[in-house]
Amino acid sequence: MKNIPYGRQNIVDEDVDAVLVALKSEYLTQGPLVPIFENTVKEYCNAKFAIATNSATSALHIACLALDVGRGSVVWTSPISFVASANCALYCGATVDFVDIDEISHNISIEALEAKLKKSELEKCLPDILIAVHFAGLSCDMEKIRELADRYAFRIIEDASHAIGATYKGDKIGSCKYSDITIFSFHPVKIITTGEGGMALTNNKVLARRMQRLRTHGVTGAFEEMLPQPSDEIWNYQQIELGFNYRMTDLQASLGISQLKRIETFLTKRKELADRYNNLLDQMPLFKPKIFSYSESSWHLYVVELDSQRSNITQKELYTKLRQSGVLVNLHYIPIYKHPYYKKLGFKDQYCPNAEIYFHRALSLPIFFDITDAEQDQVVHYLKLYIQ
Ligand SMILES: *Cc1c(COP(=O)(O)O)cnc(C)c1O
Repeated sequence: MKNIPYGRQNIVDEDVDAVLVALKSEYLTQGPLVPIFENTVKEYCNAKFAIATNSATSALHIACLALDVGRGSVVWTSPISFVASANCALYCGATVDFVDIDEISHNISIEALEAKLKKSELEKCLPDILIAVHFAGLSCDMEKIRELADRYAFRIIEDASHAIGATYKGDKIGSCKYSDITIFSFHPVKIITTGEGGMALTNNKVLARRMQRLRTHGVTGAFEEMLPQPSDEIWNYQQIELGFNYRMTDLQASLGISQLKRIETFLTKRKELADRYNNLLDQMPLFKPKIFSYSESSWHLYVVELDSQRSNITQKELYTKLRQSGVLVNLHYIPIYKHPYYKKLGFKDQYCPNAEIYFHRALSLPIFFDITDAEQDQVVHYLKLYIQ
C-alpha cells in the first residue's frame, strides 16, 4: 500500500484546461480572471467585497493593517491554529496573546474569552482585534463573539482558512455577518486550491479599498475615486502607504474558478468521509469530533483525541507507528505559544491548559476527496491494531 497523506488536492482535466487557457492568455499575473474569481467567491459567501491574495498569510497581514493594527495594538487568537494566525499581528509590530480553546469544539472558548476580557478591562489592556479561527472547518460561535466585541470594543477577523463552504446558523462563512473581515486559504490541503493563494472578504468598502491598495505596494490605482494629493500631472498613480506585492496571478485564479465549481461535491464527500470515520471508529478509546447544531463543518480536518486512560499506547507511539505503516497522520497543531520563537517572546509552557491537553491527545486522520474506502479502512485497521 502506498502512503496515505492527511490531505491532498483533487485536480481534474477541467482544472488543467482552465489553467492552460490562462497560460495562453495575455495576462499571467493579476488580470481579468482575478476579479472574476473574487466575484464568484464573494457571491458564494454573500459578502460585498473580496480581495484575492497570494496566500492566506498575506491576506491576514493586510487585514490586520487595514484595521490599523500596529505598534501598541493587542491582537488575540487561538493557540490551536497554524502559526500564521498569530504571525500576522507580529508583522505589524503588535502584541499577540492567546485565548484558550474549548475542549469539545477546539475553537476559542467563549468562557475563557469572556474571563480574559474582564481581567484585561481591569488591567486596561483590552484587545483591539480578535482573530477567530474556525478550526477544522467548524465555525466558532460567532453570535457570542460578536456580543463580546460590542461590549468590549474589539474588531473581529475570521481566519476561515479551513472553512470555505462551512456555515454558521444558516449563513456561509465569509458572509462577514458577525465580523469585519474573513480570510480563506487556497493552499492545496484546504477545501479548494489555487496552488498558493488566499482571499479576504468584507462588507466594508473602506476596508476593501485599503486591502486592495496594500496588496499592490500601497499604490492607488484607477479604482481610487480620488487621489489623495491633487495631481497636476497626467500620471494617475501615487503611493499612499507602505504596501506589498501580495497579488494573486491569473494562473492561480483560473484554477480557483474551476475548483469553486466543484465545491459542493468536495464538501459532500468530506462530510461522507467524516460520517464514515464516526461509524468505523465507534467503541474505540478515542474522542471523535463533536457535531454542533449551529455549524455545518467543511471537514478540512478529521481530528481524533486518544483517551489515554482507556488505552495502552501513547499519542507519540501511535503517531510513529501509524506513520511507519504509511498512514501519514499529523498533529494540528502544536500550541502556537510553544514554538521556540514564541517562547522567546515570554510565553510559558502551560499557558493554555485546554490547548495543552488537546496537544497531548490529538491526531489528524487522512481526509481528502480522493481517499478510497479501502484506504480509509486501512487507516482504521491500523488504529485498531495499535490502540488495543
Ligand atoms: C493554512 C492556514 C493559514 C495559512 O494559509 P496560507 O494560504 O498557506 O498562507 C492560516 N491560518 C490557518 C488556520 C491555516 O490553516
